[in-house]
Amino acid sequence: MTTSQQLFEKAKELIPGGVNSPVRAFRAVGGSPLFIKSAKGPYIYDEDGRSYIELINSWGPMILGHAFEPVEQAVRDAIQHSFSFGAPTRKEVEMAELIISMVPSVEKVRMVNSGTEATMAAIRVARGFTGRDKIIKFEGCYHGHGDSFLIAAGSGAMTMGVPDSPGVTKATAADTLTAPYNDLAAVEVLLENNHNQVAALILEPVVGNMGCVLPEPGFLEGIRSLCDKHGVVLIFDEVMTGFRLARGGAQERFGITPDLTTMGKIIGGGMPVGAYGGRRDIMDMVSPAGPVYQAGTLSGNPIAMSAGLAMLRHLNDNPGVYSRLEEIGTKLHTGFSNSLAKLGLPFTINQIGSMFTLFMTERSVSNFADAKTCDLPLFGRYFHAMLERGVYLAPSQFESLFVSVALTDELIDQVIQANEESLTVALTNA
Ligand SMILES: *Cc1c(COP(=O)(O)O)cnc(C)c1O
Repeated sequence: MTTSQQLFEKAKELIPGGVNSPVRAFRAVGGSPLFIKSAKGPYIYDEDGRSYIELINSWGPMILGHAFEPVEQAVRDAIQHSFSFGAPTRKEVEMAELIISMVPSVEKVRMVNSGTEATMAAIRVARGFTGRDKIIKFEGCYHGHGDSFLIAAGSGAMTMGVPDSPGVTKATAADTLTAPYNDLAAVEVLLENNHNQVAALILEPVVGNMGCVLPEPGFLEGIRSLCDKHGVVLIFDEVMTGFRLARGGAQERFGITPDLTTMGKIIGGGMPVGAYGGRRDIMDMVSPAGPVYQAGTLSGNPIAMSAGLAMLRHLNDNPGVYSRLEEIGTKLHTGFSNSLAKLGLPFTINQIGSMFTLFMTERSVSNFADAKTCDLPLFGRYFHAMLERGVYLAPSQFESLFVSVALTDELIDQVIQANEESLTVALTNA
C-alpha cells in the first residue's frame, strides 16, 4: 500500500468518505486519492514523494503557481501582528478598494469566507431588495452547497450523482426554478409564468462546473435584457471566472454588467475567502447599512486579506499574466486537438483562456444534457493514465482544468504528450 492509500483507509474511519470535500475522493474515476504533502510553482508532491504537473491548482486559486513568493511574504509579514481581531482593519479597506477598481460592476463589496457564503448572501440580498422569493439557476451550474442551489447542481453534486440533494426542504426546492444553459427561450417562459415572483437569476457567465461550457453569442446579453424587463437582480457567479478570464472577470471579457457578483477562489490567494458586491443601492441593503442580515466572525481575516491582496495586486499590476494564460490555453487546445485528429477521435474541446475541458463525447457541449453524454468509464481510465504520466487533472469529467502561469512551454509539451499516450491507453484497455 502507498502512504496515500494508508492515509485514505484511516481517513475513511474518521471523516465521511475520507475527505472534507466530495470530489477529492476520486469516486468518479475509481482508485484512491493522492494525499498531498506540498507544492511549488507548477508541481504538486504527494505523501509518497511523487511529483505531478498541476492542472487543478487548488481548483483555481493557484493561478500564479504554488507558493508564489509575494503571497508567501505577505502572509509571513501579517502573521507577526496576530491572526484575527474581529474588528475592522486597514487591509479590508485596501481590499475593497482594489476589488472595486478591478471588477467593472462592483460599487460596494462585502468579504466572506467562501464562495458558498458569497452566493447564499447574494440571493438573500436580492430577495430583500426585490421583496420576491424565487430564483432562477441553470442546470449543471454550481453555486456552492447552499440549500437553494442544490437543485440540478453541477460539479461534485453531479459527479456524485446527487444534483438534487436530500436534506433540502420541498419549500426551498420549490423556490428554485431551473432552465437549460444557453436557452433564453426557457428563461423567458419561467419569467412569464412566475410574473413578479423572481428575485434573482444566478449563473456562471462561463460555466466551469459541468466541465467548461461557454455562453453562446447573445446569451449573456439576452439574459441581461430579460432581467431588466422583469425587474430581476442578475447575479454573475464569478467564483471561478473572477480574476481569471480577465482582470475584471467574465463581465469584463464579455462586456456585460451584472447587478451583483459573487467571488471566491483566486480572491484569497489560497486562503478561505469569498466576497459579494455590486450596485450600491442593492449592497446598501446589507446589515448594518440596511436590514438584510449577514455576518461572519472571521470575515475579512487579516491573514486571508494579506494573501488575497498580494494576489490581486500582482494580477492588477501585471497584465502579462492574462496574455500568458491565453497563450497557454491556446497551446494546450491546439496540442490536444492535433492528438485527437491523429487518433481519429471525434471528441469535443471547450476552452476559453485558462479554462479547458476535453469532453469524451462527439456532441458539441453547450449545456448539462450535452455534458452528460460523455463516456465516463473512458474518462476514468484516461485520468489514471495521465496520473501515471505525472499529470494531475481534476478527478471528474465534469470539471474544468485551471492552468497557472507557472506552466512553462516545456511542461505544456509534456502534458500534450501525456494526453496523447493516455488517450491511446484508455481506448486500448476498454
Ligand atoms: C467553487 C465554486 C463555488 C463555491 O465556492 P466554495 O469556496 O467552494 O464554497 C461557487 N460558485 C462557483 C462558480 C464555484 O466554482
